[in-house]
Amino acid sequence: MLHNDELESWDRETFFHPSTHLADFARGDQPQRVIKTGRGVRITDRDGNSFLDAFAGLYCVNVGYGRSEIAEAIAEQARELAYYHAYVGHGTEASITLAKMILDRAPPGMSKVYFGLGGSDANTTNVKLVWYYNNVLGRPEKKKIISRWRGYHGSGLVNGSLTGLKLFHDQFDLPLDRFLHTEAPYYFRRTDLDQTEEQFVAHCVSELQALIAREGADTIAAFIGEPALGTGGLVPPPAGYWPAIQAVLDEHDILLIADEVVTGFGRLGAMFGSDFYGMRPDIITIAKGLTSAYAPLSGSIVGDRVWAVLERGCDRFGPFGHGWTYSAHPLGAAAGVANLKLIDELDLVRNAGDVGAYLKRALQDAVGGHANVGEVRGEGLLCAVEFVADRGDRVFFSPDRAVGPRVNAALLARGVIARAMPQGDILGFAPPFVLTRADADEIAGKLADAVAEILGPSGS
Ligand SMILES: *Cc1c(COP(=O)(O)O)cnc(C)c1O
Repeated sequence: MLHNDELESWDRETFFHPSTHLADFARGDQPQRVIKTGRGVRITDRDGNSFLDAFAGLYCVNVGYGRSEIAEAIAEQARELAYYHAYVGHGTEASITLAKMILDRAPPGMSKVYFGLGGSDANTTNVKLVWYYNNVLGRPEKKKIISRWRGYHGSGLVNGSLTGLKLFHDQFDLPLDRFLHTEAPYYFRRTDLDQTEEQFVAHCVSELQALIAREGADTIAAFIGEPALGTGGLVPPPAGYWPAIQAVLDEHDILLIADEVVTGFGRLGAMFGSDFYGMRPDIITIAKGLTSAYAPLSGSIVGDRVWAVLERGCDRFGPFGHGWTYSAHPLGAAAGVANLKLIDELDLVRNAGDVGAYLKRALQDAVGGHANVGEVRGEGLLCAVEFVADRGDRVFFSPDRAVGPRVNAALLARGVIARAMPQGDILGFAPPFVLTRADADEIAGKLADAVAEILGPSGS
């Protein structure tokens, strides 16, 4: 589209890349890659190199690249009506239709959908809903929100405070007040190696109970969690975790926000992770998979219990003072409608479950026996391989050896994109749902070669 010999230098000189070592990039010490096009699970860069994208962008291009059905829906919407706002009772055919389609797929007890632009702003909306809720109920002290260490909920001020990763806190003066963190449900990283999975769940529960007791239940409004940890390491919860947490929340009248930005619309092989793990959320965050990233759109699905209080609040205080210019943007909504239709038509939720199980087995067969592979884990098309220096004693590598990033680079050199997760030597795989078994075999085979190159054929 844009033929230009200067693009590479403009990139170094003018473009502020998110989540990037800015100095290395500006100096030219970090590679740049300009992506030009994509089809299915593969993308091609400006130099003509093709890659199997085993992370679906940022685990969001769930239906795969180059879907003309969605492109056409966006174009048609743009021609008919590119924009109108949703304030004071206005709407468009696409946004209303999409709200109905989401509620038809959502877990029981959900009432309305508020639309934003991305997962970060949706979680900010959720915090405001929870604070408003407790103000209407006459509980102005009940405002703190508990999330988990290693949770990821965005990188703004409020949602970045919910996030539990050092990279997103340190040097940014986060987390803000009112945001607390508790134990991550990450069995492989338990401190007491002798704990069974069941004992570890009991430990997570007692940590949460202790935090609530310390702070006072009457100061805690909500608990937020991803059904399975995403950016924090791609970790399915230990068996029984969510029902056990849910019981504590119920006991203390604490709302549950399920952040389904990654898991919503099929990634685990179920439409929602909340159903899959037996969570009963009051609010559900959706974004990435909602449009498969063909256009920016997020949502807060609000449950009956919260909704009833929002209505009462407006009867007392007047119109709800919250909204973005681009809330429910028609182009995003048109993309969402076309995307959800496509997921149904191609039976992609089932494929994510089937091929996901196959991919996990293939990764296990390819590298599971390597002495530096501590764990191969996953649920549906959300899988990870975690590297360790010593498997028997579960000793982690020192971060400055950059084992995860180096294996990732060796894999990229073989034409497969995974993601070196930010905290730990963890390689993540979250490909588009149209992945085939042959694609899964290609990923696993090339991973085995990459691991052998960096850590030796059998490890140390
Ligand atoms: C990506 C992500 C977000 C933030 O979404 P953005 O669109 O990047 O703002 C929030 N929660 C989870 C679980 C995510 O993976």
